[in-house]
This record gives sequence, structure tokens and C-alpha cells, in this order.
Amino acid sequence: MSARVLDGTAVANQIRGELLPQVAAFAARAGRPPGLGIVLVGDDPASEIYVRSKLKSAGEAGLRADLERLPATASLDQLLTAVDRLNRSDAHDGILVQSPLPAALGEDAERRVFDAVDPRKDVDGFHPINVGRLVQNRPALVACTPSGVIELLERSGIAIAGARAVVIGRSDIVGKPMSLLLLHRHATVTICHSRTRDLPSVASEADILVSAIGRPGFVTTAFVKPGATVVDVGIMSITDRETVARMFPPGSKRWDTYQKRGALTVGDVHPEIAEVAGALSPVPGGVGPLTIVMLLKNTLAAAESRARAV
Ligand code: NAD
Repeated sequence: MSARVLDGTAVANQIRGELLPQVAAFAARAGRPPGLGIVLVGDDPASEIYVRSKLKSAGEAGLRADLERLPATASLDQLLTAVDRLNRSDAHDGILVQSPLPAALGEDAERRVFDAVDPRKDVDGFHPINVGRLVQNRPALVACTPSGVIELLERSGIAIAGARAVVIGRSDIVGKPMSLLLLHRHATVTICHSRTRDLPSVASEADILVSAIGRPGFVTTAFVKPGATVVDVGIMSITDRETVARMFPPGSKRWDTYQKRGALTVGDVHPEIAEVAGALSPVPGGVGPLTIVMLLKNTLAAAESRARAV
């Protein structure tokens, strides 16, 4: 058996196509486009790439997108001042502070910054008010990656109601909101993490298995029930030859890419599971493109809700 590929790029393009006229209609009504303000602290190369891609996608969808850069040496106060400026800006409906923040800002910096974002502009869905609303199943703004996974499943015709779902990973950004979104769609959900005993046997109960841990090729056939739907959220760039060879045998197309570039983008899921799973959202080309389009969708939703409140 070879798993059906759940094409995140195609679904993201479909959603983008739906957003374009809605963005144009908002701009015509409000006399301005929906606005997104991104704050980037420091010069982490991966964050630079993510932010560039978010700005480009927002611009292409007709949104206003502004980047506020702070040096790696910026203080937490400076960062909170930048957030406050965006909170008070009429032109910005959505605010995103790119993570990770520099370690020098302190352990609780991310929490303090996310808490400082106006919940009505919290397009990442990280503010405790938005998390609480999600828990109570009256969501306003929901974290982009898990809501992108739901779009991918629903638009690919994967039945969620009644399914047994296993989410590996319990982070506030992916694992927890993912589990709640599946629960609210009537799946029976199990959340697994680094202390879960006998993870493969728990995972292999799943009709829908979502992995969000950040461990290359960790999810092997031992984790997958035949015919299950597997969504790989993990994404990392690996350079280690042995790890690449464990996932992609020398001579394969991906191995050749690694040989050329010296690095390879991979997910949590070992490619061998395609022989067992019924459907698979791979890395790259799966969940990644959906995360960005959900950010645009959230920004439009925030703009519409702010306009209604005026
Ligand atoms: P995180 O480090 O905050 O959380 C990882 C979780 O995995 C933890 O809950 C931990 O308990 C669990 N875990 C770690 N090792 C484990 C193990 N051996 N067995 C079982 N569970 C284990 O990470 P995160 O922010 O949730 O991100 C997870 C992955 O998803 C990363 O690879 C990240 O890059 C990726 N991600 C992708 C997107 C996207 O747009 N595609 C967005 C967000 C995160």
C-alpha cells in the first residue's frame, strides 16, 4: 500500500484563493487593508526566513504587513513597548512576535510578551484569553499550525468525528491546541509526550496520528495502524549523514538532495510509514504552507471583528 498524500500546498492555495476577495471586500468597506505587524528580535536565520515568507504571503494576499526589527541586544521593556505601539495602532489588526526570542531576554520573556498582545489582535492565538476560549469551544483566534491541520484534514475528506486521534507533543503552540480542536470535532483524543509509556502501542491505536515533537524520523511503522491518517507537523533541517541515511537510503531522490545541499528538511515521520498509512501529510509540503495561510485568515478575522466593534 502507498499512502495518499495530503497536499498542504494545494489546500493552502485553495484557502488563499478564498481569502483574496474577502480581503478586497474588507479593504473597500474599511478604506484600508487588514494590517499585520510582525516584531522580530535578533537575527536567527530560521526566523528571518519565516518572517520574510510571512511578509511576502501577506503582501500577495492584499494585506498591509509591517516588520519591526529589534536588535538581539534589545531589552524586554523595548520589546514590550513595540508590542504596545502595535496594540494601539489603528492600522494593525494582527500582531505576531516571532519566536524563539533571544535567550538573553530571560526564561519567561515569551510568556510575558504573548500576554501583552491585545487578545483581539492575537493572530497567533497564544494569549490566555484566546486559549481559554478554545478550551471552552468558543474560539476566536486559534493557533495557526493546529488550525491548519484541521483545514487539511477536513478539506481532504478525513472523518474526524468518532475517530481515535493521538497527538504526540503537548506544547502550548501545537500539541495542546491540536488536541482541543480534534476533541471539539468529536474525536476521542489521547495526548502523548516525552514521558508516555509504550508510545508506539498507544500511537498505533490512532485513526488520526499527529506528530509534533521535532525528532527526525521518530515515528516509524511501529507507531502506525494500517490505513491510519498521519500528519507530520515536526520540521527541522538536518545535516547529520547517519540520520539522513536512516530515513532516505543512499541513491534515493532525497539522499541526492542532501548530497547536493549538505542539509535536508525532514519531519518527525519516517518515510517508511507510507507503506502502512492510508494518508500522509509529509514534510516538506504538508502543514508548513497552511500555517502561513491561517495567519492571513486570522488577521482578516481580527480586522473584521475590530471593525464590527467600532
Ligand atoms: P516543543 O519543543 O515546544 O514541544 C515538543 C513536544 O514534544 C513536547 O511536548 C515533548 O513532550 C514532546 N516530545 C519531545 N520528545 C519526545 C519523545 N521522544 N517522545 C514523545 N514526545 C516527545 O515543540 P513545538 O513548538 O510543539 O514544535 C514541535 C515540532 O513542530 C518542531 O519540529 C517544530 O519545528 C514544528 N513546528 C512546525 C510548524 C509548521 O508550521 N510546520 C509550526 C510549529 C512547530
